[in-house]
Amino acid sequence: MSARISPRDDLRELEGYHSPQLDVAVRLNTNESPFAPPPEFVARWLDELRDAPLHRYPDRGARELREALGVHLRQPPDRLFCANGSNEVLQTLLLTYGGTGRRALMFEPTYALHSHIARITGTEVVVGERRADFAVDPVAARALVDEHEPSIVFVCSPNNPTGTVEPASTIEALLDPEGRHVVVVDEAYGEFAPWSALELVRDDRALVVVRTYSKVWSMAALRLGFAVGPTWLVAELEKVVLPYHLASATQIAGRLALELGDEMDDRVHRLVTERERVAAELARVDGVTVFPSGANFLLLRPAGDGHERWRQLIAQGVLVRDFSRWPRLEGCLRVTIGTPEENDTFLAAFRNTFEGVAVS
Ligand code: PMP
Repeated sequence: MSARISPRDDLRELEGYHSPQLDVAVRLNTNESPFAPPPEFVARWLDELRDAPLHRYPDRGARELREALGVHLRQPPDRLFCANGSNEVLQTLLLTYGGTGRRALMFEPTYALHSHIARITGTEVVVGERRADFAVDPVAARALVDEHEPSIVFVCSPNNPTGTVEPASTIEALLDPEGRHVVVVDEAYGEFAPWSALELVRDDRALVVVRTYSKVWSMAALRLGFAVGPTWLVAELEKVVLPYHLASATQIAGRLALELGDEMDDRVHRLVTERERVAAELARVDGVTVFPSGANFLLLRPAGDGHERWRQLIAQGVLVRDFSRWPRLEGCLRVTIGTPEENDTFLAAFRNTFEGVAVS
């Protein structure tokens, strides 16, 4: 056994992704949309799929999808790079601009996959701390850029798991006029926020905005994400990603989903209204801190043992995300905004945890 091949030395300490997928009635732990895609969309997708040449490789450049997305975003298709979920977009960015001898700067606490994928790609991780209100301090961040000269700077906005939205001035402060590093704004929750860094993307800037179909577009199961960046950068990503990486079924779904624009805007509006209602209800519970959020989830810190409360919620059939043992997030839980009924079930179960409901 001792001769058995080991993973790369630099991956020895690597831990896998931990987010339990439990079979409970109310799942509010992974920030998906609570609404299934509209049945008309599914019908149209299946119709197109039936006629698609499945014995052939998919369109390598995802041309039709990028053209439709370009119209939707008012961006030229050459500025769009599509992949299997925004995680694959992030991985491709790191494979292209990170790697051995290069550094990625990120601001904790933030989305765990930024540092995870950086390590997998052999990129050194440089960590900056967020302020007490969980915003990035632009002056401290700029100093870290000057000190460590990273090739990639990640800013998650709205930030997962805190919900914090960065102002445009912070993104601009992080851009390098010479383009010596790429600033990646992860906007997986961008549709729920009051502004988007998409408006800052230009061909003469090393700025990339990453988005996903997994949240608003109700397509988490299909795995589709995209980057909006300068054309020269998108061309580099296309060289690095595996050929034919994006299945025809995903490309068709991504294009057809865009026809649902109005329905999706309505869903965003409903979720944002629900987010504010849930936040107000939680704030009325004694000893609970709720952090302001521009996303489809809320971070909260209840008094007492957060992990124990998480267990008590599961015992009542409600799964949220337990961040109680994360540095800077001690005692915190993150709850995805669901349907009004799911949110009410969560609120009732949460209040029960203060009444000493027994855990099985
Ligand atoms: N970025 C952030 C900040 C996320 O929270 C998520 C999903 N949890 C992703 C990227 C990845 O999403 P997907 O791969 O489903 O597009």
